[in-house]
Amino acid sequence: MSWLHKLERRLEPLAIPHALLAIVAGQTFFYLAELIQLVDRSRLVLAGAMVTQGEWWRIFSFVLVPPDAHWALIAFALYMVYFLGSTLEEELGVLRLNLFLLCGWALTLGAAFLAPTMVVNNAFIGGSVFLAFAYLNPTYVFYVFLIIPVQVRWLALLTWILYAISFFTGGLGGKLLVLASVGNFLLFFGARILSDLRTGRRQAESRKKREIIRKEADAAGPQHRCVACGKDSDAFPEEDFRYRADGNCYCAEHLRAVLAQEASRP
Ligand SMILES: [Zn+2]
Repeated sequence: MSWLHKLERRLEPLAIPHALLAIVAGQTFFYLAELIQLVDRSRLVLAGAMVTQGEWWRIFSFVLVPPDAHWALIAFALYMVYFLGSTLEEELGVLRLNLFLLCGWALTLGAAFLAPTMVVNNAFIGGSVFLAFAYLNPTYVFYVFLIIPVQVRWLALLTWILYAISFFTGGLGGKLLVLASVGNFLLFFGARILSDLRTGRRQAESRKKREIIRKEADAAGPQHRCVACGKDSDAFPEEDFRYRADGNCYCAEHLRAVLAQEASRP
């Protein structure tokens, strides 16, 4: 058992089930609280500079800040996080999902302190959970706009492209946020992706080799072909082909015929 497994066993009792459901519930609560002007999101969001000025709660509260959007979009986003999260919890296990989220949270905190004046969002939750779900269930179909069926792997590809664009065109803050959003995914799945790629390449190579051998065999044509009827050893591998002294090849039936003909000749 590796040290990682040992560590996991130690931590198992501390694992918090339904962590994403708790986050969804928290965001719903703060959405409603903001609606009745009980809280102000500017007091909850994360910026490194504010934390160092003593507003320490922000390192936790930012996780529960709902998206700033129309309520229907928020409802949809929260439902998705809940749905993807509960599937992921089944696939990864409670502890792994906890560590996965914890890691994204830590990376986001890192980004907040490296770019202290930037207001940091909690996009790591949705982003990394979505990428992990897509990686584990690539052929799962989503209905975009409720009608267009799209396999989740293509949506993930689109996500990666958008991340790449904002990474290469954004400032330091933007780059850090992208890294925080995908960092935990890469940490958890990077090794597996690399080995996937390696096995994929190995399989492609041996497929190519088999293809070449098959092509060579095709080019050479069948090994035996009856001169009388054209039956060949590729189409009739069970047939017993024989050669006569003149070099001609015959199938069993025509060999008999030729021999009978020769015997009947005076
Ligand atoms: Zn024949």
